[in-house]
Amino acid sequence: MPRRTIVLFQDSVIYNAEMAVLSGYLKSRGFECRVVIEDVEGPQVLERIAALRPDIVAVPTEIRPHNCISEGGLGTAETVRQIVRRVCSPVVLFGKQASIASEQLAKDVPEVHAVIEGDPEHALECLLQGMSRGEISGVVYPDGRGGTARGPAGEPLDLADMPLPDFESFYRHAGSDRLGFYASVSRGCVYKCSFCQIGAAARVYGPAKIRFYPVEWVISGLERLCRDYGPVKTVYMTDTNLTLNKKHARELLEAYRERIGLPYVAATRPDLIDEEMADLLARSGCSKVNLGIESGLAEIRNDLLSKNLSDESIRRAVKLLRERGIRSYGNVIMGLPGEGFDQTHASLKAVFGFGVDGVNVSLFQPLAGTPLAELAVAQGHVTEAELSGLRSKGDGRLSLRLPDARRIENLSQVAPLMRFFRSRVVYALVCSMPRNNLYMLVYHLPRIMRSLRYEFADQSVSRKTGYFMRNFWRVLATGQRALNR
Ligand code: SF4
Repeated sequence: MPRRTIVLFQDSVIYNAEMAVLSGYLKSRGFECRVVIEDVEGPQVLERIAALRPDIVAVPTEIRPHNCISEGGLGTAETVRQIVRRVCSPVVLFGKQASIASEQLAKDVPEVHAVIEGDPEHALECLLQGMSRGEISGVVYPDGRGGTARGPAGEPLDLADMPLPDFESFYRHAGSDRLGFYASVSRGCVYKCSFCQIGAAARVYGPAKIRFYPVEWVISGLERLCRDYGPVKTVYMTDTNLTLNKKHARELLEAYRERIGLPYVAATRPDLIDEEMADLLARSGCSKVNLGIESGLAEIRNDLLSKNLSDESIRRAVKLLRERGIRSYGNVIMGLPGEGFDQTHASLKAVFGFGVDGVNVSLFQPLAGTPLAELAVAQGHVTEAELSGLRSKGDGRLSLRLPDARRIENLSQVAPLMRFFRSRVVYALVCSMPRNNLYMLVYHLPRIMRSLRYEFADQSVSRKTGYFMRNFWRVLATGQRALNR
C-alpha cells in the first residue's frame, strides 16, 4: 500500500504542544504527516493542502485552552466546509472540543468525516489504515440521515510509550516561539470546573482522570528543545495542575533542576500548594505560578464555576509563594453568564485583595459540551447554534450578550491597573468610554516589559528598543495583541 499522508491543519504559527505530540506519534508509525499552518501559507493555504493530496486532513477544535493556541480562524464548521469543498479530502476533527461535543459537531457539521473523542492518536492511525469508522474506538460520525453513529468506546492511550514531540514542524517557522516554549506534562484532570473542556471530559468518559507523561519523556523533550531550537529563556509547564500528584512533581522538578535548570512558569490550583510544594517550586527555578482562581467572589467561584476553592486556600498559596520569591498570577474569567459590571469589578478587586502580583484575565468563552455553556444557552446569552462557530476569545470581545458587555470588555483590558487602585467609581467611568487601543496597551504594556526583563535580558539595547517599539506600535495603532510571551 502506498504511504498514507495526513495533514494536520493549524491556523496560527504559535507552537502547539498537543499537535507536536500527535505529529511525532503519526510519523513514528510510518505515516507521512505534514503540519500545514495558515499563518505561514497565507491565502493559498487550501491549495497548498490540496497539492499534498492528503488521505485525511485533521483539524483541532480547541479554542485556546491551556497550551494549545488557536487564534482567529474561521470557526470549526466553516473550516471543515472549506477544506471539504476545496481540498476534497476527508476531514477529521479532534481535540478537547471534539471530545466533549462530538455528537453535536457531527450533527452540526455533516460534511465532517469523523469526530474523535479523547486521545486522537490511535483513532487517526486506524482511519489512515483504512478501517471503517464504525469499528474504530472513540470515533463519532454523521450517519448520512441527519443523525450520528459511533464506534466502540475509546481507551485512553498509554503515555509511557510516546515518541518525542515533532518540534521541527513548528519551531522552524519564525514566530512559533512568540508565546514561549511549552512542555506537555499531562493529559486530563481530576476536577470538574463547569467552564472547562478538560473538566467536562468526565461527562463523556466517566470518572475524571489525569495521566502524566513520563518524567524522562518531558525532560528529554526539553533537552532537545533547548539544544536544537533555543535559546530558551523560560519554560512553560502550564498545561496541568503541576503540583497535583506530589510524587510526580517531586520526580519531575528534581530532574528539571538537575538537567534543565532554566526559570519556568507553572500552573496549578491554590489548594495544591503547601510548604513542601512551594519549596520544591522555588528550588527547581519556578519564577511564576498561574493560579486557577477564576473569580474573586467565593459564591461565583464555587457555585457557578464549581471550583471548590476557599478564599483562605488562595491567600495561603499566594503567601507561601511570595515568601519564596515566586510571583503569583490569578487567572480570572470575566463576563460570566448573568454577570454585570459591578460583579466583575468586585471579583477582580477581590483577586488583587488576595495579594497576587497580577492577573491573567480572559473573557468567558462558552464551550459546547460544558455545563456553563449550557447555562449560558438556557439563560439566552448565546444560542446553541452559535457555540460551534465561536472564534477565539483573543480578540477581546465577549461571546455572550450581556447588558454590560462593552464595560466588561474594557475592564478586562485595564485590569492590570487594579493592582494600584481599585475604586469602582473610577473604573465605571473609564470603562463606559468607547473601546479603544489605549486600553489594550494598558493590558499589554506590562507583558511587553516582562518580556524585555526576562526573555530579552541579555540582548543589545537596540534589539530591546526595536522589540519595544514594534510591539508598542502594533497594539496602539492596529489593536492587535503584542507579540509577547
Ligand atoms: S482544574 Fe478545573 S480549569 Fe483546571 S484543567 Fe481541571 S477542570 Fe479544567
